[in-house]
Amino acid sequence: MGKIEMKDIKKKSAASGGVNPCQKGAYLLLVKISKDTKIEIGALSKLFFEKGTYVYVGSAMNGIEKRVKRHFGKRKKIFWHIDYLLSAPGVKLGAALAKPSKLREECKIANKIALEGIPVLGFGCSDCNCNSHLFKVDGTSAVTNLKGFRKVKFHRKKQISK
Ligand SMILES: [Zn+2]
Repeated sequence: MGKIEMKDIKKKSAASGGVNPCQKGAYLLLVKISKDTKIEIGALSKLFFEKGTYVYVGSAMNGIEKRVKRHFGKRKKIFWHIDYLLSAPGVKLGAALAKPSKLREECKIANKIALEGIPVLGFGCSDCNCNSHLFKVDGTSAVTNLKGFRKVKFHRKKQISK
């Protein structure tokens, strides 16, 4: 079983600083599923998820921090496929990374992750032509090979810039 090494991601984000909270762009969610399970994902109905690590690709054109905070929140309206997934028992949102961008890049990024990950068909891609925006990954390479992603830090206080 592949394992996302959080320290790899931390190392990577420490080197590059955080993400400006108001920035728009694409984001990745690292999701851990602790056991093989079936989860009802809205209109997709029940999907089987093998235990492991998954990467979800989305974009937040109204601000990355706001969106990522929502994903980490426990009380929210279940709206997107990812909301169904993150609300299911045994599913944990591990970390979020973001890449600020004025353009929507999520599909391009999903295509890159698809080279290494196994797509959960139909997930998160109702509005585009991708096969999926959620991939089961083995290890961190699918994420660490992506350029420009940094860990999302929440702004409770001002960030100290170097
Ligand atoms: Zn897409």
